[in-house]
Parts: sequence; structure tokens; C-alpha cells
Amino acid sequence: ALRLSNRVQRIQPSPTLAVTARAAELREQGHDVIGLGAGEPDFTTPEPIRAAAKTAIDAGHTKYTPVDGMASLKKAICEKFRTDNALEYTPEEVIASSGGKQVVFNLVQALLEEGDEAVIPAPYWVSYPDIVKLAGAQPVSIETDDTAGFKISPQQLEEALGERSRLLILNSPSNPTGAVYSAEELKDLAEVLRQYPQVVILTDDIYEKILLGEKTFRNIVNVAPDLKDRTVVLNGVSKAYAMTGWRIGYAAGPREVIAAMKKLQSQSTSNPASISQHAAVAALQSDPDLIRPMVEAFRERHDYVSEALNRLPHVSCRRAEGAFYLFPAFHDAIEALGLADDVSLATHLLDQAQVALVPGSAFGAPGYMRLSFATDMESLRTAMDRLGRILAG
Ligand code: PLP
Repeated sequence: ALRLSNRVQRIQPSPTLAVTARAAELREQGHDVIGLGAGEPDFTTPEPIRAAAKTAIDAGHTKYTPVDGMASLKKAICEKFRTDNALEYTPEEVIASSGGKQVVFNLVQALLEEGDEAVIPAPYWVSYPDIVKLAGAQPVSIETDDTAGFKISPQQLEEALGERSRLLILNSPSNPTGAVYSAEELKDLAEVLRQYPQVVILTDDIYEKILLGEKTFRNIVNVAPDLKDRTVVLNGVSKAYAMTGWRIGYAAGPREVIAAMKKLQSQSTSNPASISQHAAVAALQSDPDLIRPMVEAFRERHDYVSEALNRLPHVSCRRAEGAFYLFPAFHDAIEALGLADDVSLATHLLDQAQVALVPGSAFGAPGYMRLSFATDMESLRTAMDRLGRILAG
């Protein structure tokens, strides 16, 4: 066999993509599978954004752009941070990449050394720990559960941080739990972080615009401006504008960190796709009303699914405050069905009910399941009926 690097052997393929692939396989065999595994809006990218891309193609904007994004996109990003988040950045402090995922990758590669630690609250987005491992660094997770609202306490943060810590990743609204940190909670975390000046903070705000509850969005820089010079703010158009396939994410942060990320990008992918950049400018400059119907649909689906889940025997589910996921506890259901764990439950549900959910262990939280409600109501109703039948039987 050909030798593969230790580096690549340290990581796993993305489990959420794996469930989606298995569901697609069953569908191909003729099974009527309802996929609630994927982390993407079911909506088509809104028309004005598609139109901007078509115009860009016909205008010949099909060539290399600056590595870190066209000037007009970087300007639109700065403007977005100013109007949405009351944060001031210059174009040298922002970068556009091929998705938020590349932003995380670039940041971690730019920052972490072998032996460094990155603190990651669990349940976490599946890619964080593996991206950290690829850099030869160590992910350190902080466990939370539904009784804590899936949020870390200042005490937990204090315990997790140490000499080797170089990065903390915060993600609110959260994938996979839908939890949203309040301004007060972020202030308390900032208080702890002040004692660890060597720690860079990544605030992953990619679900910022998908708020389901009453809370207004705040990130840690909003409540602790003194942390701005060591915080990288990540955002993107994938989730907010139903643009997952276009691959545009972006970040703002300290000039030297952004420059390092740009250097890495110059030796890997170069600029994100030029046409997508033009579409992203249109998205960022669009009327806020453009995405309102999608957010409304997510709210309606959330309310239906969270109530339906709580009616299932042996299942309990906290309401989500943002994003388009629910993260119900299936610990009792796993026991009642005589199954080993959440991974066997995922297989069981796929085979017996033709419903695809992602096991919580993929997110560092065994016993839970992640359900994406970014799909139409009819599929959600059918899925809930099917789960009800399996769990009652
Ligand atoms: N951050 C979180 C928490 C996510 O859930 C995702 C997508 O699943 C991303 C970042 C990256 O999204 P993209 O690379 O499509 O911009």
C-alpha cells in the first residue's frame, strides 16, 4: 500500500457529510429517505444574488482576483461589520475565503504550533477539532449538556485554559445545539479571558442572521471591545443567504493575523471564485427583507419540530434560539430500544424509519442526535410520524 501522511491519518472525514452520503445511497436504491442530516438551507439562493452572478459572468469577471478578495467585496464586508455589528475594520483587517471552513483552516494554520491547545466548547461543529489536529495541535473540549443550555460557564472556561492554550472557539448561534450566548454570559467569559492574554478568540458568527427567539445578536467583541485586538470574527454568506455551494466566507481581525491567513491562502487556493465574490457583494448589500421569509420559515419549522420531538416517548428537546438545528436528548430512547449508542441509533433510524439524523457523538456529545429542520414542513411532518412509530414500537 502507498504510505499516507500521519497528518491525514489523524483526522476523520466529516461525519455529517457521511450521513448525507449514506442517505443518498439508500435513496438511489429506491428508499424514500428523509434527510435531516445536512447543514444547509433548502432554499434556492435569492434571485437578485443569482442575477449578480450572471451579470458578472457576462461582464467577463472570470479572472483571478486579489488573493484575499476583490476590493469591492472587502469594502462590502467592512460595511456589513459596521452596520450589522457596530464593528470598525479597515480592508487590511478583512479577508474573503472559500467558505467559512477555509477561514477556520487558515486561522488555525496561521496560529497553532505542535503542542498548542485550542479550547472548544462541546457540542461543537465537527470540523473544529479535526482542523486543529491537522495543525498538530491539541483540541481541548469543554463539555456542556442540555441542562446547562449547552453553554459553558466562566468556571469551566477557567479550568480549561492553561499555559498551552492559544485559541478559544466560540460559536453562537451554535451548530449543532442552536444555543445563543447572551451579552451577560459573554461578558463573564471575557472576564476570564482577560487573564489569558496569549489566547486568540475565534467567534464563529455564521448563523448570526438566523435567530429564532427574542435575543438580539451579540458577539464577544461587542461586549468586550478590549478583546478586539485578539479576536477573529468569522462570518459568511452560506447559511444566511442560502449560498452553501458558492463557497464564500470571510473574517475580520488583527492585521497581522489576517495577513498570515492571506499568505497561506496565496499558497493554497488563491482567491475564492470570482463569480461567487460578485454574488456575495450583492448578498451583503441586499435589503434585509430578502432573507426574512427564510428566517420566518425556519421559525415555523423549529416550533413544529421541537414540540413534536418533546411528544415522542423517551425524548426531550430544548428549544433552539438560532441556526436551523435541534439537538434532542435520546439517552433514554437508546436504552428503551436496547441499542448500544447514538451511532447505532442513527443506523437504526435510517434503516427502520428512513430518517437520517446525525449522532451526537460526532459533535462530542454522545446520546444526543442532531436534527436539521432546513427542509420543507411536509418532510418534517412525515419524519416525525416515522420517528413516533419507531419509538412507540
Ligand atoms: N461554522 C459553522 C458553525 C458551520 O456550521 C459551518 C457550516 O456547516 C461553517 C462554519 C462553514 O460554512 P461554509 O464553509 O459553508 O461557509
